[in-house]
Amino acid sequence: MPFGDIAGHARIRGLLAQSIAAGTLPPSLIFSGPEGVGKRMAAMAVAQMLNCTGNTATAGGAPTDACGKCLPCKRIARDSYADFLMVVPGDNGSIKIEQIREVIDRSIYRPFEGRRRVTIIDDADALMAAAQNALLKTLEEPPSSSVFILVTARPDMLLPTVRSRCSQIRFGRLSPTDVASVLEREYKYATRDALAVAAASDGSVGRALKAQADEFSDARGDAEELLQSARTRSDARARVERAKDLVKGGGGPAASERDYLGLRLQALSSLARDLGVLGSGARVELLANRDLRDDLAALAKSFDSERAIRLFSSVFRAQSALDRNVSPKVVADWLALQV
Ligand SMILES: [Zn+2]
Repeated sequence: MPFGDIAGHARIRGLLAQSIAAGTLPPSLIFSGPEGVGKRMAAMAVAQMLNCTGNTATAGGAPTDACGKCLPCKRIARDSYADFLMVVPGDNGSIKIEQIREVIDRSIYRPFEGRRRVTIIDDADALMAAAQNALLKTLEEPPSSSVFILVTARPDMLLPTVRSRCSQIRFGRLSPTDVASVLEREYKYATRDALAVAAASDGSVGRALKAQADEFSDARGDAEELLQSARTRSDARARVERAKDLVKGGGGPAASERDYLGLRLQALSSLARDLGVLGSGARVELLANRDLRDDLAALAKSFDSERAIRLFSSVFRAQSALDRNVSPKVVADWLALQV
């Protein structure tokens, strides 16, 4: 993604683009700053602008950004460009010396197809000490056509000798507006949802996405518990008691109680759909909640496809009622009796 499409960091983007245009970009760089603010994206934009064949010079002289559309730009974005190397931690969470030796060996040669070979080491704090030591000489005097960018949220974990050989560029947090615009554009959030999630994101897109995932996983846990307890067809009072779990996250302003229940209804709907899938004898691969396949298989013994469909339509009615501003408590009580 070219610099122009990256959210926030206007000063850094301008600085990088200018120095690339002027041919003064330092060849060994550290991009540091919080997780999920776009450091790796900016490093990829550097690689694109250095190798772009589609950007045309402006009236003032050199191009000021990558085009994002030419073959090198597209292939760098897909990580399939011969002169673009992305090093990431292996399965054990660290970057080993073998991975670094390979990168160093390749950097000796002239670029295969581009102007500059760009190597990004993502999560560079995962570099083993031996790997960092192996990099020192290359960072000190990189081959003339190579650029190295170490991306990290924990620059202090890098050896001082590594840090001293690189120019460090410090990324800050994004504004909530920037986070919301990324969620809308890249992750197709509705504007209202994007703003709500961004407000609690601490200026990090990565954190916003993770919080959303965690929240949904909690909601799904509650939804599953409701179904488990309904298996035994417990008495009405016990069910209404259970309904309290669906709204207890509220307690504060009505809007948050509504959101809390809304998320649980969404999870219930997804589980009901899966139970219907199991009940119709379809393959497990079709389940949306594949990770819960064993639990779902156990539940399916009590929720045959007919009951699953009834559940699905009850959840749908509950969602509609919630949208029509019916009190979340009333909706939850009603639903608990239908399950
Ligand atoms: Zn391009």
